[in-house]
Amino acid sequence: MQIDTLPLTAEAFAALDADDPLRAFRDEFALPEGVIYLDGNSLGAAPKAALARAQEVVSREWATDLIKSWNTAGWFELPERLGDKLAPVIGAGAGEVLVTDATGLNVFKVLAAALALRPDRKVIVMEGSNFPTDNYMAQGLVEFLGQGHQIRFAEKDDILAAIDQDVAAVCLTHVHYKTGHILDMQGITAAAHQAGALAIWDLCHSAGAMPVDLNGARADFAVGCSYKYLNGGPGGPAFLFVARRHQGEARQPLTGWWGHKAPFAFSRDYAPAPGLARFRTGTQPILSMAVAEVGLDIFARADMALIRQKSLALTSLFIRLVDERCGSFGFGLASPRDADARGSQVALTHATGYPIMKALIAHGVIGDFRAPDILRFGFTPLYTSYMDVWNAAETLYRIMASDEWKKPVYSAVDAVT
Ligand SMILES: *Cc1c(COP(=O)(O)O)cnc(C)c1O
Repeated sequence: MQIDTLPLTAEAFAALDADDPLRAFRDEFALPEGVIYLDGNSLGAAPKAALARAQEVVSREWATDLIKSWNTAGWFELPERLGDKLAPVIGAGAGEVLVTDATGLNVFKVLAAALALRPDRKVIVMEGSNFPTDNYMAQGLVEFLGQGHQIRFAEKDDILAAIDQDVAAVCLTHVHYKTGHILDMQGITAAAHQAGALAIWDLCHSAGAMPVDLNGARADFAVGCSYKYLNGGPGGPAFLFVARRHQGEARQPLTGWWGHKAPFAFSRDYAPAPGLARFRTGTQPILSMAVAEVGLDIFARADMALIRQKSLALTSLFIRLVDERCGSFGFGLASPRDADARGSQVALTHATGYPIMKALIAHGVIGDFRAPDILRFGFTPLYTSYMDVWNAAETLYRIMASDEWKKPVYSAVDAVT
């Protein structure tokens, strides 16, 4: 498959679909007729099996078996069970991943744990342009600790230079939420270790989107969410990773009863569980956890190398189509042109990006807008087809060439973009 020289015709795209080894996965997702969904990097599509699972957990496990289900349906072990299912997708071992809480909460927990492992160091290296919650949580933690920690913000090309002997931890997002630029997890982690610091990776835009090898890179901690590429459902639980070598020593400050070494002893004082379990906090949203497991079960059958290969083909072809068909309309490319540096999304820039994206959505192509000028298109190889890419680019061309996007209805700003 020669993507860079493929003729840009509908027939050639249809032929790629016919040969696609991941094609069968598309049938496992409930996608509405007439919609091209390019926002799986923000909220993954619903697996068809999620509905049956939700019904089962409500009608049998909850309504019929009631409280017995904590034991009989394994509710209490869901964070570990789901974590072990996710582990191979992100290069972690069994017993190193918990599916639990929200991404931001998990950032708080693992960053606090990392700082406590490096008590003599006061600097945290973070990317200022990262998705804000990671930075906000770090700022809240620093203020709360009151120990004089500082966040040293650096952008992608300056990160290595920002790592020195004062650094306790680098806390970075593997794939940038706006541009899709990939940071070098292996190289940055090695540099952090060389300086005596720990490395924390946020996998929100890489887990399920591309192969990730946490243990291959010797990452210390990681976090991420299930509701983007992992198709875990709206508000689905996030995850955290603690490398086995830190388990036992690392501690986190949200010392709820689920992290206690004997939760059902109901003793007065906190005593941490021995290993990963101390990174739990409290009762989990069981309905959401049950539905998230359906998304993880799909990944257990998917080959991440094939996902990466198709992802790069989809994004490269979209960029080629936009260049060729929409080159005169003022779009820029915020994502790397170099495929190896690109995650599974394409970010275009345009001075009037917001009404353009609203017009696209009204015409059945769902991406999203990120202030001030970015139009994001997520490509999810399990359910995005090559014809979706062709049709999305055609729709973009049509709304630009016809000035459809200039209609006043597309300029009114919604609460969630
Ligand atoms: C999506 C995303 C989050 C989401 O955080 P929540 O606490 O789950 O709302 C956090 N960090 C990054 C980098 C993200 O892309």
